[in-house]
Amino acid sequence: MLILKCAACKKKLWRYDKIGQGELMRCHKARIDKVYGLEENNGKICCCCGRAVGIDKGSYYQMIRKAFTSSGSKRNSAEKNKRHR
Ligand SMILES: [Zn+2]
Repeated sequence: MLILKCAACKKKLWRYDKIGQGELMRCHKARIDKVYGLEENNGKICCCCGRAVGIDKGSYYQMIRKAFTSSGSKRNSAEKNKRHR
């Protein structure tokens, strides 16, 4: 799981099940595991401090690269059953 944080205020945004080792460009809504705090504003996904961190594209959020930081681990698709909580 990856924990996404706002780059501006460091608040947690959501926890995301990232598959694959690539860079985080999109967050699929179905794989958002837990939401800590976010606001939707005209199709943008914002931290509660007001900073936009992504754009709502329907089934996923297109992430704004410099607006967030992430920590935690990504997983390979082969490790589907090894979910750490
Ligand atoms: Zn913030």
